Amino acid sequence: ERVPLVIGNWKTNKKVAEVYDFLQEIQGKLPDPKKVEVGIAAQDIYLHEMVKRSKELDIPVSVFAENVHWADEGSYTGETSPAALADIDVSGSIVGHYERRKMFKETNGSVGLKVTATLRNGLVPIVAIAEDATHYNPDDEDMAPLTEIAVGLAGVDKAKAENIVIAYEPAWAIGASEAPSLEIIEHAGKVIRKSLAILFTQEVADKIRIQYGGSATPENSKEILGLEDIDGLLIGRASLEPAAFLSMVNDAI
Ligand code: 13P
Repeated sequence: ERVPLVIGNWKTNKKVAEVYDFLQEIQGKLPDPKKVEVGIAAQDIYLHEMVKRSKELDIPVSVFAENVHWADEGSYTGETSPAALADIDVSGSIVGHYERRKMFKETNGSVGLKVTATLRNGLVPIVAIAEDATHYNPDDEDMAPLTEIAVGLAGVDKAKAENIVIAYEPAWAIGASEAPSLEIIEHAGKVIRKSLAILFTQEVADKIRIQYGGSATPENSKEILGLEDIDGLLIGRASLEPAAFLSMVNDAI
């Protein structure tokens, strides 16, 4: 059984005082991590402090980076090393978010290097995909495997693949007014799991968690989380406010 994973992606938001306030607000309010795993992805500058605070306050929340470099060390000005993230007990990193692909020219090739680098360091990669091939087509019974998965995950060691998390975030639903229909999300979940089974094995594919992201809100989270192939959410705007975030986390139980 896949344990649902709900992650807030704060993107480039929040000042340090707001980060502390948020943690204080959710203290004592998160469900048993055996039922739902909860994470927050934030700007690198806050990660070390977030890990320390959540340990001190005994908050069962995992801390994630929003991006990571593929090399463990060296001359890469401005990048963040996956080994350094592991060293401060960060749990993982989002890799290949649509905003990074679009604005910062990330490709399936760089995503692949970053996925390998996170797994090498014992981190969980949240691999974000947004490809057009997942667009709903009820006549497409065969469902072609996705290039984002086929290329982005080609170099992954099968033995470690079950630790990957996939986030299906259609470009047109990020920062939008509405999430896609449940049919579209469920279809995408199936396409993704089938692609994973082709690339790895069915057994591995059945263990990999697939999140949905893009205009997820407390109003639609329960229905989305009820879909067979969807095992969690990657939440942008609605994760900035503790009450909304907690409500969506609880919908995953
Ligand atoms: P919104 O939830 O604000 O649409 O953002 C989704 C997202 O990009 C999460 O990574």
